[in-house]
Amino acid sequence: MAECEMCGENVPRLIKARIESAVMMVCEKCLKYGTPVEKKREAPKTVILPTQPARPRPQSVSKPAVSKTVSRRESDREMEDTFLIDGCGEAIKSARERIGWTQDDLAKKIMEKKNVLSSIERGALMPDLKTARKLEKTLGIKLIEKVQ
Ligand SMILES: [Zn+2]
Repeated sequence: MAECEMCGENVPRLIKARIESAVMMVCEKCLKYGTPVEKKREAPKTVILPTQPARPRPQSVSKPAVSKTVSRRESDREMEDTFLIDGCGEAIKSARERIGWTQDDLAKKIMEKKNVLSSIERGALMPDLKTARKLEKTLGIKLIEKVQ
């Protein structure tokens, strides 16, 4: 129960009304002396759009080129852990002559230039691992040793 501010009557419900210049809580009967103050309309909720809509993160499409990196690293490591035997040039030369190939023959088989092979045989040039492997395979000799 609430008391009407106009007539003092206890009523179950008071209505906010503007009577003359005052705003009073009045009963329904007293409401006729004034005008009901309209219930303040709830301001429409402001929908604040996020400046950056939460979008699902695009999944990285490009796969990291792991295989290439790994294989290269392994190759590098292999280079670090391996070395060519002493006198590998001589070993190549003697193996080649044993088979009866000319430098030209062998150079073609390992797809190297003859002068490169010549330098390797003289010991003036160390074959790279790839070439050494080819020489090993082609001549059936051992040129590469692993560092223990
Ligand atoms: Zn009243």
